[in-house]
Amino acid sequence: MERSAEVNQLVLPHIARMEGYVPGEQPQGGTFIKLNTNENPYPPSPRVKRALIEAIDDRLRFYPDPAARAFRETAAALHGVEPDMILAGNGSDDALTILTRAFVGEGELAAYPSPSYLLYSTLISLQNGRAHVVPFTPDWRLNTDEIIRPGLKLVYLANPNSPSGTTIPPDEVAELAERLPCPLIVDEAYGDFAARTCITLPKTHPNVIVTRTFSKGYGLAGIRLGYLVADPRIVAELNKVKDSYNCDALSLVAGKAALEDQAYLNETRSKILATRARLTSALRELGYQVPDSHANFVWATGGMPAVETFQQLKQQNIFVRLMRYPDHAPGLRISVGDDAEIDGFLEALRKLS
Ligand SMILES: *Cc1c(COP(=O)(O)O)cnc(C)c1O
Repeated sequence: MERSAEVNQLVLPHIARMEGYVPGEQPQGGTFIKLNTNENPYPPSPRVKRALIEAIDDRLRFYPDPAARAFRETAAALHGVEPDMILAGNGSDDALTILTRAFVGEGELAAYPSPSYLLYSTLISLQNGRAHVVPFTPDWRLNTDEIIRPGLKLVYLANPNSPSGTTIPPDEVAELAERLPCPLIVDEAYGDFAARTCITLPKTHPNVIVTRTFSKGYGLAGIRLGYLVADPRIVAELNKVKDSYNCDALSLVAGKAALEDQAYLNETRSKILATRARLTSALRELGYQVPDSHANFVWATGGMPAVETFQQLKQQNIFVRLMRYPDHAPGLRISVGDDAEIDGFLEALRKLS
């Protein structure tokens, strides 16, 4: 090939046309208040560190268990489902990728409500599928009739939703699943912060697939582990799609130890929920509209102009997430940090107003 050839044009045309998903900024070094990617402000359970240290030895020369059995048994026992209903992923994004590859073919239709997690659109584009984007109602409820379309192959529902932090009650999720001609992914990345969950819904509604992550509630975004709960027949198919060793040995050990320390999860969650309540009222007092959040972040719109506020905070090394969605004014999604971080953020914000 000629050296000057446009090698980037060798990729599939639908990939060349894509923008690609842009994750939140991960500033390196220095001191900053980082409230932009919904990481947990608290460290993982001390049991996780102990389990990891114990696992770092000569056994690392072996491949991990491709079926992640020990991890799946622990997750299954916790949720009251069978281990064959669980599939582990390299983060829940990997679970979402596996699901999209399994269900959405070229030119096929997949739906998601908007504004929501922007990765769904990227995953559909990677398959050269077609996205059916259905706006939430102004009070963040589902337009169920609008979601249902003939030929639909997959529906994604982030519940709690990002960026709004709002939830759809499990009975409404079940009703949507009953009416759909295809699988429904209930993305519970923030499920650890919500009062209600759909985690056992796949037992009665075999087209429901629930995804979970260790990145938010368990404070383990750095290890990359997630899982899904689905009907065993779906899990058996997904096993053909996933990479054989999609989860490394250390992640599986860390995830198992994290699940085994529910007391620690409850403790850190209560601190986050208390800070979330304080952050919500403070923002409302400053004139922002903030829906009641069921996650570890809040969505603030309608106060000071979002773009300028975002930039001015960033100059002070305070990172929040500026989110833009079609037909919506830009807004700020602010992760619930610890009390000192939220105080620092609020103080900087008040000085801007
Ligand atoms: C953070 C997040 C994920 C991804 O979680 P990972 O396990 O870190 O890949 C999935 N869905 C939503 C809605 C999220 O916010």
